[in-house]
Amino acid sequence: MGIGLIIVHLIGKAFSYEIPFYFYPIGAFLSLLPDVDFIWAVLKRETGAGHRTHRRIPHYPIVMIGLLWLVLGISSIFWPILVRWALIGTLCLLGHYIHDSLGLKLGIPWLAPWKDMFFMIWPPAVLTKEEVDNKNLIDSREWVVKTFLHPTPEAVSNASIFFGALFLVWLW
Ligand SMILES: [Zn+2]
Repeated sequence: MGIGLIIVHLIGKAFSYEIPFYFYPIGAFLSLLPDVDFIWAVLKRETGAGHRTHRRIPHYPIVMIGLLWLVLGISSIFWPILVRWALIGTLCLLGHYIHDSLGLKLGIPWLAPWKDMFFMIWPPAVLTKEEVDNKNLIDSREWVVKTFLHPTPEAVSNASIFFGALFLVWLW
């Protein structure tokens, strides 16, 4: 979410135009979009939701960014401003995928649908689907409580990105 705010802001600065306020919630929304499948997993109490969701279409960078450019690219023939949104959307999605490939996570299928492997950027690692399945088998609701309601390093870093983003947007 914080990443989306930063991206909208930086693009505004890069092309030096006034950023309408509604751009920010849209940027935040776009950067969270891939995790929509997570809500589904929690509702269905799937085990290992945190990583299981990462194998569905919202976490296929090639498919998502490809679709984005296809839809906005064609529409931009009529509404040229949409090119800017394709750019913002790409960066927000990329920010999300990179964030999911860092730290304590299990990576995402960067090359899906061609390859089923999960790739981590840092620490660099490649996992098979089965390895990902076996790594995190706790109940999805337990996982939510563990991830969001305890000050884990991940929760702290997410919160600091978010507040850092608010601060940046406000000051600069
Ligand atoms: Zn994600």
